[in-house]
Order: sequence, then structure tokens, then C-alpha cells
Amino acid sequence: ERERLARLRHTPAVTLDGHKVELLANIEQPGDAPAAVRAGAVGVGLFRSEFLFMGKSGNLPGEDEQYRAYCEAIDGMQGLPVTIRTIDVGADKPLDKGFKDTHLNPALGLRAIRWSLADPSMFRNQLRAVLRAAAYGKVKLLFPMLAHVHEIEQTLAQVELARNELDARGVPYGSVELGAMIEVPAAALMVRSFLKYFDFLSIGTNDLIQYTLAIDRADEAVAHLYDPLHPAVLRLVADVIAEGQAQGKSVCVCGETAGDVTMTRLLLGLGLRSFSMHPAQILAVKQEILRADTRKLAPWAQQVLTGDELPIASLMI
Ligand code: PEP
Ligand code: MG
Repeated sequence: ERERLARLRHTPAVTLDGHKVELLANIEQPGDAPAAVRAGAVGVGLFRSEFLFMGKSGNLPGEDEQYRAYCEAIDGMQGLPVTIRTIDVGADKPLDKGFKDTHLNPALGLRAIRWSLADPSMFRNQLRAVLRAAAYGKVKLLFPMLAHVHEIEQTLAQVELARNELDARGVPYGSVELGAMIEVPAAALMVRSFLKYFDFLSIGTNDLIQYTLAIDRADEAVAHLYDPLHPAVLRLVADVIAEGQAQGKSVCVCGETAGDVTMTRLLLGLGLRSFSMHPAQILAVKQEILRADTRKLAPWAQQVLTGDELPIASLMI
């Protein structure tokens, strides 16, 4: 089976009815990039940059060190595009392993973009490093956990400020596409506003499921209720994909569901054409895509959306 999958490495991911699908990799360190290329990824859809910062409190990487890390990822991807997500610490990814978060609800607290906006000079260190790396290779910039329009505006203002700072220093930088993660239900419900500001969207189903169903993604006691197929979750995902498609903007899914082969057909049926996942899943998902016919999957997916319940078995059409 493994050898059979390996033969698919250089096969383009195209459905039976001719739809091209983009298969991207999620990485945590620049050193993960070569494995992503070996697995046949056509780019990095999610570089979880917080892993450069975790366990380093008191000695967080500055602009130059980050710049070098992003360039290393670009080199590792051999010219394929790298989507760098700004730091997403807090909740299940504390800056320090031993650190005990004293807040009652860290997942609802100061994490991700909220954390960055609370410390703008640190945020701009990262933004400048990314913008500089964009002069070295093809880079996209992705922001986690946005929920409010004023957060979007503050974020974009920080990007502008970072560019001005580089101009003032005479340091070269490149242009980047800007994207938002859709991982809070509020963001999914107001996707039209998001599309006014951003070039692309990436749905973080791990958090979107957690926040839609009020299930802590890391709590074993409620793990049985953490359901990617819950109709409420599927409707949010479907609406974001449809709205992006209607406006001609790319929508990716970069949560675990993107790498789950039992979800591939449903996501294709909902119109998804870009998946980002752990490199180890890419060939198995590609195999599903090569066997899929969206002319059959699209009407079925619409039925699934309107149904009250979704038996897992119905995924195996
Ligand atoms: C997600 O929430 O689905 C996601 C991809 O981000 P992370 O898992 O890093 O929170
Ligand atoms: Mg997330």
C-alpha cells in the first residue's frame, strides 16, 4: 500500500471530472519542509510559526532570527509558496511548557492575534521578518483567530507600519498575499466582511469545531462530542467555501479534517479545492481525490448539509 501511494507523488491531484486540487503541507519548523516536498506538497499551507517561539521565553527569536528561519523554510520548499501564520500561542500551545495558565478559559483568552495585537512591537518584529522573507521567496501571510472587523483593521495597520519601518531602514521586502484564518464561528458567519479585506482564507477546523460546539479540543472527557461532521460545523465550512468561490478567492482547509481521508469526498462535494495537512497524509488524500467525481459528490454534499443527522456510513458512497 505504501509503495502504491508513493507512486502517486508526482501525479497531479485532479478529480475524475477534471478539477485540479491543491494539496499543501502543514509544518511546524523549517526543517519539516523537505519532507513536505518529498510527500508531493505543492507548497506550505500552514507554517505554525509559534513553534519557533515555544519553550524560549525570555529569549524569543527576534526579527533576524525569524527571517533566517523563514528563508530556510523557503529553501526547503524549493521555490514552492510558503504560507506563514503569525504566532498562535495561548490555549493548547502555551509559550512555556511548564507555564500554568492561571486564566479560567485560556482558549477564550489572550491567544493568537489577540496576543500579537496586545504587543504590537513584538508583532511587527514578526511582520518585518515575513515581509523581508517575501523578497527571498514566495510567501503568504496568514492571521489566526480573527473575529472582529476592528482586529482586522488593526492587523492590517500593523502590516503597513512594518512596511514603513523597513522603508525607513532601506531594507528590501517583497509583496505578500494576506489571508485570514476562519476558526471562530463569528468569522465564518461574517465571511463577506473578511473577503473585503483579504486575498485568501484558510479554515481552521480544529478551532472552528471547538468553538462552534463548545468542546475543548484537548479535553479527553468530552472528546466523544468533538464532531467534525456536526451539521452546524459543516454549514459554517460550506458557507465559507461557497462565499470564497463566489468572489473568486481561494479558500483552504488547514485543520485536521483536511488530512482525514474519510472527509475528503465531503469537502470536495462542498467545493473545496485546496487542502493543507500533515505531509504524511498527502498521498492518501490524493488517492481519494483521483477517485472522486464532483458531479456526484456536489449534490450528495448538499443533501448532507440539509440532513439532521449524518451517519458516518453515508460518507462511503
Ligand atoms: C485549526 O485551528 O484548525 C488550525 C489549523 O490551527 P491550530 O490547530 O494550530 O490551532
Ligand atoms: Mg487554530
